[in-house]
Amino acid sequence: MGPEEFRRAGHELVDWVADYRLGVRDLPVRAQVSPGDVLSALAPVPPESPEPLAALIADLDQVIVPGLTHTQHPGNFAWFPSNASLSSVLGDIVAGGLGALGLSWQSAPALTELEQVVCDWARQLCGLSAGWKGTITDGASTACFVALLVARERATDGCQRRGGLQAEPSPLTVYCSAEAHSSVVKAVLLAGYGADNLRPVPVRRPGREMDVAALDALMTADVAGGRRPAAVVATSGTTATTAFDPLADVCAVAQSHGAVVHVDAAMAGSAMLLPEHRGLFDGIEGATSLSWNPHKWLGSVLETSLFYVQDPGPLVSVMATDPSYLRSARDGSVVQYRDWGLPLGRRFRALRLWSLLRLEGAEAIRARLRRDLANAQRLATLVEQAPGWQLVAPVRLQTVCVLHVPEGPEGPDLDAHTLKWCEAVNASGAAHLTPAVVDDRWVVRISIGSETTEWSDVEAMWRLVERVAASS
Ligand SMILES: *Cc1c(COP(=O)(O)O)cnc(C)c1O
Repeated sequence: MGPEEFRRAGHELVDWVADYRLGVRDLPVRAQVSPGDVLSALAPVPPESPEPLAALIADLDQVIVPGLTHTQHPGNFAWFPSNASLSSVLGDIVAGGLGALGLSWQSAPALTELEQVVCDWARQLCGLSAGWKGTITDGASTACFVALLVARERATDGCQRRGGLQAEPSPLTVYCSAEAHSSVVKAVLLAGYGADNLRPVPVRRPGREMDVAALDALMTADVAGGRRPAAVVATSGTTATTAFDPLADVCAVAQSHGAVVHVDAAMAGSAMLLPEHRGLFDGIEGATSLSWNPHKWLGSVLETSLFYVQDPGPLVSVMATDPSYLRSARDGSVVQYRDWGLPLGRRFRALRLWSLLRLEGAEAIRARLRRDLANAQRLATLVEQAPGWQLVAPVRLQTVCVLHVPEGPEGPDLDAHTLKWCEAVNASGAAHLTPAVVDDRWVVRISIGSETTEWSDVEAMWRLVERVAASS
């Protein structure tokens, strides 16, 4: 395809995307397909000769769109907001169009330096001190894994360059809230600590934040037992109920036992843009590393996850490689992002966040986040006033966890009722919610914050939920 043909096809596809966004409200939120439906509708063998663009668009319309759960739909209240703002989509198109190769500073100087700039813009917007240096990764899972690799090497003075963890005399331990994200557990396993050395710390009620006295007791017992505390992963905004671990106290306890703190603020990090919510992150400056995902609530296209460290030195010393074909005369004076994470060839990810921030402006983004927070509070009030309904946890940000308790069912029967009405709402196609287990009980999370969701959409969802639950 030459540039002129691309111009024609590109205009057509941009129109197609705009039409999709204009019409997404009229589609069912949750994909209505069964496993294998998409598979069987697609050509099983690749084409030998070129097909017209129209054939591709026909498949997009008839197979791909019906085969998706529409996260950009105003009735999407599932998981977490996964906004792909169109201003960010434009940056993504440019990244593909430039096809830059981020191997080293020299292979794409602007890719490296724009990443430095947008990471620093985001830092400033969050009110974080100038000491934090950032990079863009694919997700918070990767950031946590990398943070735990660095913690492992710090605690063992670089065991990977000797016999690795296998040659260590005593086990390293890692701590996180019992309500931490599954990616923390995965990172502990993959980084070689072993499941036996992960300590889930109990949470306090009603806020469900990490119990720091329990953390202290666990660390003290581990040290007495000959183990070495390496890291605490603190969560700012847990997945089920948006609980905030008390960072100042967590950092103080971790430090007293010689462990580092990684903060997982994947979802809630966007709230740092709002000065009135920064109190939730008090003490964050005492952490060693931090991750949050502008690809969730903020609106950057997926795989824009920020990973910050207070000191790049230990990170680079664990991640650096120095093959001869990548060396250049500039090496000492520039940032080499390949040494800040796993991949060598990196995409021009910074363009997505840069175009979002430049074309929207921070003020409009803050206004949207505040809209969502106000909508969550309004919904919480409706839930509290509704007979038979309970709020399961304090509404800290934009997620409202609810339970419908009619006369009669208890225990497993109540769980069955909850799962039944939630499934009925999701099957309707008008709204999409996620059930989750809190204190061994199924509840339903209503996560507000799709870019297109206004109060009228929240209200319509709630009326539907009330109606469906009453008749389930
Ligand atoms: C979404 C989320 C994650 C996982 O993030 P990915 O970018 O999908 O890897 C981890 N922790 C928390 C608290 C999250 O909300």
